[in-house]
Amino acid sequence: MSIKKLIPANMLDLKPYQSARKLGGNGTIWLNANEYPCSPKFSVNSNKFNRYPQPQPQALLEKYANYSGLSPENILVCRGGDEGIELIMRAFCQANQDAILYCPPTYGMYQISANSFAIKTILVPQLMDFQLDLAAIKAQLDSNPQIKVLYICNPNNPTGTVLNYRDLAELLEITRDRAILVIDEAYIEFSPANSLVGELKNNPHLAIIRTLSKAFALAGLRVGFVLANVELIQLLNAIIAPYPIASVVADIAEQALSPEHIAQVQHNIRTIIAERQRLVEELKGLSQIEEIYASHANFILIKARDGNGLFNSLWEQGIILRNQHSQPLLENCIRTTIGTEAENNAVIAAIKNY
Ligand SMILES: *Cc1c(COP(=O)(O)O)cnc(C)c1O
Repeated sequence: MSIKKLIPANMLDLKPYQSARKLGGNGTIWLNANEYPCSPKFSVNSNKFNRYPQPQPQALLEKYANYSGLSPENILVCRGGDEGIELIMRAFCQANQDAILYCPPTYGMYQISANSFAIKTILVPQLMDFQLDLAAIKAQLDSNPQIKVLYICNPNNPTGTVLNYRDLAELLEITRDRAILVIDEAYIEFSPANSLVGELKNNPHLAIIRTLSKAFALAGLRVGFVLANVELIQLLNAIIAPYPIASVVADIAEQALSPEHIAQVQHNIRTIIAERQRLVEELKGLSQIEEIYASHANFILIKARDGNGLFNSLWEQGIILRNQHSQPLLENCIRTTIGTEAENNAVIAAIKNY
């Protein structure tokens, strides 16, 4: 006997997210998940684990409020930015009825989360320069009342593009009183001037996703944040699981947001950006490569002459990058995270040898 007939239709075709680790093969150099290449050192302060943690650890909220220039009531702590993405979807979309809109090529989780909640997806591809097709977005919003939430990633993964501020300002107007606008700022520490955090105060329909997984080098901790106005944060607090943040996780996340560690993160960001520039210089003009796109994050997108061949060749040498060949506009494209100097040198050497 099988449980198949008990499974709802939308669940039957679900495929788990192709996580970087799962796709790893026999990797020795991991540059496929935009992680920071080495770990900060923290130890757990508390040795009391018998009590439930605070549903929203107040000290952590205060530290992130301080870091982002907001108040604690404008912040939700969750299990990675991914949980924030999902909570907003669940809060504003009804299954088998409502839709989200996003603009490929972009982060894969918007589609995967929507599938698991039987929420429809409307795709408005980016323009050739990876900017937003505002006219097409507006046309969709005008004609399709099912659309309740828009997901826009800035800087965008996997292109590294930052969106024109004027377009985002216009998008805030187009969506006002019409839909929730989610700006996914997972990589904003690499391009802080492009944050929309300053727009929160005049935009109750704006929500910003943040994470400690990228610039803060804590992907293993699973901590993310939603930044928004009180009304939206209260709604998310009503649907999030009761104790999402384990006490040890809150403890380490608080340490990561100390002034000393923030200064360390800022130093690390400068190192990553310098390495990114070096990598671009080394790869520019190689016959194996057709184009390197300008990046404002901790990865670069490369268009190769033979993307699949190059990707597979590096894979067989234990250098695991992310193949983007099947995304719209990204034929022959590969994304590589900026790693340590030695890791980046291995990438450069392997591409030159291909
Ligand atoms: C990595 C990433 C996230 C969130 O990652 P978490 O580890 O769940 O915090 C969100 N959006 C984008 C675009 C990302 O690349």
